[in-house]
Amino acid sequence: MSSKPRILVLGAGFGGLELTTLLSEQLGDSIDVTLIDKSDSFMFGFSKLDVMFGHAEAESVRMPYSAYAKPGVKLLKRTITAIDPTARRVTTDNGVFEADHLVVALGAEYDFEATPGLAGTTEFYSIPGAERLRELLPNFTSGHAIIGVCGAPYKCPPAPSECALMLHDYLVERGVRQNCKISLVLPLGSPVPPSPETSRALLAAFAERDIEFIPSRRVASVDNARDVAVLDDGQELPFNLFLGVPKHRVPPVVLASGMSENGWIPVNPRTLETKYDNVYAVGDGAATGTPKAGVFAEGAAKAVASALIAKLRQTGEVVQYDGFGTCYIEFGGGRIGKVEVDFFSGPQPTGNYYEPSVSLRTDKQHFGASRRARWFGL
Ligand SMILES: Cc1cc2nc3c(=O)[nH]c(=O)nc-3n(C[C@H](O)[C@H](O)[C@H](O)COP(=O)(O)OP(=O)(O)OC[C@H]3O[C@@H](n4cnc5c(N)ncnc54)[C@H](O)[C@@H]3O)c2cc1C
Repeated sequence: MSSKPRILVLGAGFGGLELTTLLSEQLGDSIDVTLIDKSDSFMFGFSKLDVMFGHAEAESVRMPYSAYAKPGVKLLKRTITAIDPTARRVTTDNGVFEADHLVVALGAEYDFEATPGLAGTTEFYSIPGAERLRELLPNFTSGHAIIGVCGAPYKCPPAPSECALMLHDYLVERGVRQNCKISLVLPLGSPVPPSPETSRALLAAFAERDIEFIPSRRVASVDNARDVAVLDDGQELPFNLFLGVPKHRVPPVVLASGMSENGWIPVNPRTLETKYDNVYAVGDGAATGTPKAGVFAEGAAKAVASALIAKLRQTGEVVQYDGFGTCYIEFGGGRIGKVEVDFFSGPQPTGNYYEPSVSLRTDKQHFGASRRARWFGL
């Protein structure tokens, strides 16, 4: 048995990868970190849009976990089947793991049952969903396309708006835009609520492109026999193509663990501590009040890494989660906008908006490439 402190990190997504990388950088072989994920590879969320619109092949944007090698960290492929947060014991399809410190970074999953009929149509928030739409898109040459969000919070608040703008470009390139209507149904009052300037720019971009924006509404059900999306106010929208965003919640194994309330894990938003001793939650699954996006998962991971490092070294500064993140937004026509949002500094969240430009694409590429290199050495 190892006498080193045992740290168990569940989920090798944005949060888990950044956390274990920081622990390895600071503590190296002096710790025993086990990182568990059921998948073979990681993919950025935004790559799903690229796959769907044919800008990238899924294989080229997958980062294989076999390339992840960090001193002090073992990355194991296992499916987690039970979590006992009190005992810090985790059961998988291949073994039981116990930990001195447990971090749950299992992200958010999709609750198809919450929206009757959704399972019978198409969505672009999963990899198979994006790949399926990629096959269907070439056949969409006329009619009504709906980008329909079925509940909030959902991952990456600007992503449905990006989808609408990218769909416009896709249809223009194929010479069929004039035969098609695009509508975006969003349960938020504006596309990016913390940044009115970003929202105004997106609304202007929709208006210029004749994209219908239906705010403060969600898709409540889908009638597949009639190809109709039914909104939460009873309004019926007939469609020829549906690009859905399912309602989100923590994965079933987290629901069954008793750690979640109303679909999310309660945490101290600044320290990411749960109500269980030495158990933290980071990323999309944690109810911090910040958006469900990779940059925020990373920020939370930094705070937990600093707390664990200070505990293990019995010295050092503990950094609190700052609730700050930068998001790049596809505005169409190859241009990228940027918004920096700050959730915790003031009484209200604030956002700084940077106008879309072709040069910001380089920044977005750097965002992806730097993580790819840092985590996977690729
Ligand atoms: C279309 C789209 C566009 C996006 N664009 C952006 C963007 O531009 N910028 C940005 O910052 N974010 C973006 N996001 C959001 C981003 O992808 C997520 O917020 C981020 O991945 C969350 O990180 P996480 O660590 O919480 O969870 P994840 O990265 O989802 O990782 C969770 C991991 O847990 C594993 N797991 C789950 N259940 C089990 C189990 N039972 N056993 C074992 N392993 C399990 C999963 O396999 C997964 O690898 C986008 C998302 C989408 C869908």
